[in-house]
Amino acid sequence: MATVQLKGIAKKYTENYAVKGVDIDIKDGEFIVLVGPSGCGKTTTLRMIAGLEEISEGQLVIDGKAANDLSPAERGIAMVFQSYALYPHMSVEENLNFGLRLQGVPKAEIDAAVNNAAEILHIKHLLDRKPKALSGGQRQRVAIGRAITRKPKVFLFDEPLSNLDASLRVQMRIEFARLHQDLGATMIYVTHDQIEAMTLADRIVVFSEGRVEQIGTPLQLYHQPNNLFVAGFIGSPKMNLVPVQVESADAQFAVVRMTDGSSIKVACDGRQQLKAGEKATLGIRPEHLSVQSSDQGFGVTVTLCEQMGDSTMVYAQLAGFDKPVVIRVADVFRAEQNHTLRIGINPELAYLFDSSGKAVPR
Ligand code: ATP
Repeated sequence: MATVQLKGIAKKYTENYAVKGVDIDIKDGEFIVLVGPSGCGKTTTLRMIAGLEEISEGQLVIDGKAANDLSPAERGIAMVFQSYALYPHMSVEENLNFGLRLQGVPKAEIDAAVNNAAEILHIKHLLDRKPKALSGGQRQRVAIGRAITRKPKVFLFDEPLSNLDASLRVQMRIEFARLHQDLGATMIYVTHDQIEAMTLADRIVVFSEGRVEQIGTPLQLYHQPNNLFVAGFIGSPKMNLVPVQVESADAQFAVVRMTDGSSIKVACDGRQQLKAGEKATLGIRPEHLSVQSSDQGFGVTVTLCEQMGDSTMVYAQLAGFDKPVVIRVADVFRAEQNHTLRIGINPELAYLFDSSGKAVPR
């Protein structure tokens, strides 16, 4: 097991930075997930940690040792690729023991390591098969098994579930969580799927355009997003982000005007960031909106009710706003198209972001 520190890490390709000023302090045995939209620099960051990509600026420290100039082999790291990268002509057993054979490890030791990995991953019955005779999920396990046999200090995973179908992804997600528990190793995992990030991570690093937007536990990111980007990225269904105008702000509450003219109260300390008359963004998660029987809150016109079984997603239009507002009702709920609803907001469960997109503190 090992700690991994990234200090001001950057990657420059000719003119442009793919990654810039990345600081991450990874604890021993931590499961860290790097998440963000396509092209935001997650894979480049992972490849710099692995030693597959040169670091343009900054320092990488693995287990307390400067690692910028260490070869991939010297870093004590094993990387599992999205494509699995198995040797097609070798059996599962040979794929698992290949690295150790190359290192000249004694046979008894190799057999024990392969046996251990096969047991952990439930693939003992597949040892004689060739990769082409395996399902996607089984191939993924072999790729992970190959990493385990090398007993690395740090595991790196690059979108390991993206080639699997939805139900297998859910199953393998649980396996990853178990694997981390069993091995207790430091793991760094890249994905663009925020649900994978939320369910697997001890801490999530949210990337956007080559920079770190926020680092925190899944619940910190869900409850205290730093800015509009993180607020919009974390959470499923996504947070409603609605333009508003500030009416007043003090240490406890801000009052904002929605596009339909209703005034909404939000619990926050807006003294520093909010000024009357300025634009801001109101953030409310679909599960935190409620259909009212009184005339409180704001009015919307129903577009569609989507039945989820245990809940209903109501898509509705707010006057003066061109995107749908989504309300999650925790039960079966029916409303006709074009029906008007009053929607209530709990001031404690709403967020405000100033005109630059920065969250207003509570
Ligand atoms: P994805 O989820 O699509 O894999 P990502 O977040 O992993 O995306 P990276 O692959 O790290 O993103 O790429 C980050 C940026 O660096 C992108 O804009 C990409 O085009 C650029 N980039 C990556 N490799 C190179 C390269 N060899 N030369 C020039 N630019 C590159």
